[in-house]
Amino acid sequence: MKIILFFITILNLNLFAVTNSFDFSFIKKGFQDNNTLLIIGGIQGDEPGGFMSASLITTHYEIKKGSVWVVPNLNFYSIIKRNRGSFGDMNRKFANISKDDADYQSIMKIKNHIVSPEVKLILNLHDGSGYYREKHINNLFSPYRWGQCSIIDQEILNVDKYGELKEISSKVVNNINKNLLSEEHKYHIKNTNTRMGDKEMEKSLTFFAINNGKAAYANEASKELDLHERIYYHLLAIEEYMKIMGIDFERKFDLTPMAIKNIIDNDIYITFHGNKIKLPLGQIRGMLSYFPMPKDEDIEFIASNPLMTVIKDDGKFVIHYGNRQLATLKPDYLKFIDNDNDINIIVNNTEHKVAKYGEIVYIKNSFMIKNIEGLRLNIIGYVNSDKRNEFDLTVKKNEILKRYSVDEDGNLYRAEFYKDDKFVGMILIGFEE
Ligand SMILES: [Zn+2]
Repeated sequence: MKIILFFITILNLNLFAVTNSFDFSFIKKGFQDNNTLLIIGGIQGDEPGGFMSASLITTHYEIKKGSVWVVPNLNFYSIIKRNRGSFGDMNRKFANISKDDADYQSIMKIKNHIVSPEVKLILNLHDGSGYYREKHINNLFSPYRWGQCSIIDQEILNVDKYGELKEISSKVVNNINKNLLSEEHKYHIKNTNTRMGDKEMEKSLTFFAINNGKAAYANEASKELDLHERIYYHLLAIEEYMKIMGIDFERKFDLTPMAIKNIIDNDIYITFHGNKIKLPLGQIRGMLSYFPMPKDEDIEFIASNPLMTVIKDDGKFVIHYGNRQLATLKPDYLKFIDNDNDINIIVNNTEHKVAKYGEIVYIKNSFMIKNIEGLRLNIIGYVNSDKRNEFDLTVKKNEILKRYSVDEDGNLYRAEFYKDDKFVGMILIGFEE
């Protein structure tokens, strides 16, 4: 994995070039202080409840008071590859790791964040199988299962803050248990008593943390649950840890499984080339053809979520989002030029709207894009395209072939602007029901 990274922070969103790099994201939220909560997701690539929850803290929470650091995608390569660990279990590499190990750089970097003096509490998020119970009930509900519990390595840690591991863990468990979706989802504390000879847990992230004087906890949701339900329980836990630490936040959605499902599925976007193109990814078609990409330049994008990336594969560009593969773009390589003109649109024969490149314009029945001197308009899939230029034509939905829509439902279409054969920008026309 050779890594070249172009990295510019713009309001929490990062501009990336397509390089097939899988460095984890490190996102600071709130107001930096010495009472920082470090949230880690994605140490294992097949536990989406944990890493999607961590990513939502970065995208859909505002920290009003206090300091939160988030690594939502510690093992990003395995998340994209949809496996537990492409190079073995990353959570068994904290006691010893060879310099030749492919995870070496990631382990060194996350250890640095863990031991940072600002960090006072570390929360590692997992999805575990079944349901942890102290006493064996059956194969699914048993002491050998890991789902639905708060994990500590020991009861007490002798540090200045948050060292009452059991007490704090029980507060978190009690808060979750007040908000259960079903009685069998009940949370418990699982003390691995790592120091008493748990050879496996001795190699873990949390044990490394407590041996470096940091209070550390793991939260486990059950793999038996749907993704949005796992996230619901992780967020209940995260919010309780923030409360215990005196961190104030504002959540931009209701904490219900359905609201969570809606934002993780639908509130996702990707922008290419300085806003020239913006794609909503919620209902996106699996394959988009003749997608404008700049010739002889880096392919740059801004993803709305840190779990999103674009990977070049066999000449095509694949948009990934956590464990999901959202869409494949077949490139049409063009020269790109800058042009900042307004786009004037007559909607439904009456209403006048002004748009900029990269915007979505919603309409009901018809639209007409007014002529822009020197440019050419191409409405992708428009049937009457014997005309080379499609400005100043009234276009109805049934005049655009559905198979050219950007979305699966056939409501969203591309209008592309060119100067001669150079690409200027794109808007999307969204037909509302
Ligand atoms: Zn795990």
